[in-house]
Amino acid sequence: MDEPYAELRRNMVERQLLPRGIRDGAVIAAMAKIQRELFLDEGARQNSYVDGPLPIGCGQTISQPYIVAYMTELLGLAGGEKVLEIGSGSGYQTAVLAEIAAKVYSVELIPELSHSASGLLLGRLNYQNVFFKIGRGQDGWPEYALYDRIILTAAPAEFPHKLFDQLGEDGIAVAPVGVDSQRLVRYVKQNNRIHADELIGVIFVPLV
Ligand code: SAH
Repeated sequence: MDEPYAELRRNMVERQLLPRGIRDGAVIAAMAKIQRELFLDEGARQNSYVDGPLPIGCGQTISQPYIVAYMTELLGLAGGEKVLEIGSGSGYQTAVLAEIAAKVYSVELIPELSHSASGLLLGRLNYQNVFFKIGRGQDGWPEYALYDRIILTAAPAEFPHKLFDQLGEDGIAVAPVGVDSQRLVRYVKQNNRIHADELIGVIFVPLV
């Protein structure tokens, strides 16, 4: 049965992701599949596929689809990776990661958001490879380190050093960084050193 959002979702992929250069087939497939409307409150659903961020309650936002796609593509996932995500929020980005990576460990500060994201992903959508924790993202999730990839969806003033410790060799981390003006930064860990690449300007809620 076709659902009412299928066409909006196809349009999102064709008009927002492909023309802006998203090329990773696994990212495109995940975003063509995941029902973004499930991650929003009923009142906001008709806007599920608009080309921008949307409120998800508790003063937080779900990122613009293109930004989710771009950050996921920057992680360069081949499929076998263990990923640490900071800022579960609605769980939409978590679901995109879970479609592609082997395991996703997602940390969220606000219990209400963590509970609704885990209810949706583990209950309704039945993902078997996602694990949720309520806590301070700055501390990461040391029990399951090292991670192959780390993604932050809230912006710290500087990348938290404990997270670098939890990133494995040849690991990649992607984060919005900055206070007044934020940039997306891609970090690569090689020979125990971090190489940073500053990319586009972005606007994320702060990592608090
Ligand atoms: N990726 C999410 C959007 C997240 S918005 C989505 O797809 O919906 C950023 C999230 O980071 C918010 O849910 C916010 O509560 C969370 N956050 C902010 N500071 C945090 C911290 N110190 N530790 C963990 N989560 C944090």
